[in-house]
Amino acid sequence: MARNTSLKIARVRAEGRTSTAIIRGRRVHLVKGGPLGSLQETGDIYPMSQVELLAPIQPGKIVAIGLNYYTHIGDRTIPSKPEPFLKAPNSLIGPSSSIILPPNAGRVDEEGEVVAVISRRAKNLTEDQVDDYVLGYTCGNDVSAREWQAGDLQWWRAKSSDTFTAMGPWITTGLDPEAIDIEVRLNGKEVQKASTSEMIYSVRACIAFITSAMTLEPGDVVYTGTPGATSQLSAGDIVEVELGGIGVLSNPVAAG
Ligand code: MG
Repeated sequence: MARNTSLKIARVRAEGRTSTAIIRGRRVHLVKGGPLGSLQETGDIYPMSQVELLAPIQPGKIVAIGLNYYTHIGDRTIPSKPEPFLKAPNSLIGPSSSIILPPNAGRVDEEGEVVAVISRRAKNLTEDQVDDYVLGYTCGNDVSAREWQAGDLQWWRAKSSDTFTAMGPWITTGLDPEAIDIEVRLNGKEVQKASTSEMIYSVRACIAFITSAMTLEPGDVVYTGTPGATSQLSAGDIVEVELGGIGVLSNPVAAG
């Protein structure tokens, strides 16, 4: 597939079947195989209103970067290298699924982020090589329980409670990862606004750094950090993460 073609690759449920699909306008074109395959169209086409969009990929692992925008650092020290951590696949949800607030978690925040989807096995990459290993980008919400994040030794439940990793609505190919606009809205009100050009460590630098220690496999995803100040989520909220060139990931928030 040529680098400069831009495709929107989704996973959908249509008439009870789960399938990979290409989105063109408001039409959903089903394709054979998975999102990392040849994307050969089956000829089945649905209007968007008749399918359910799912998380666009089912990653083996979810790596996320902490403290990667100057505006999110506050009075903390600027990291001397990218700071990856892991989120568990049980936490993954797709568009429109509810983010569930655990009853005893205290404050839970949204974190709107750009998510890179890895297309092939990657180890010891240089920054210049990274684009050849990324299928595309999608919108992510790295939901975070702040009191558990501060009080637990590990971030296992602060970052990986069920429903704490929202992703979608689809993967867009052909984007420049250093020029993606991010806007997060809570109940329609803008709460985060930034560009990936404001990152401390670029998307390419973060992915290269991860692969210096950890092999990334096809379908793995990398959440690349959140800008500015994040906002607390409450039951009944709607949180939207919009990325330029991709679209909007929208999730309702519910009490657990
Ligand atoms: Mg984050």
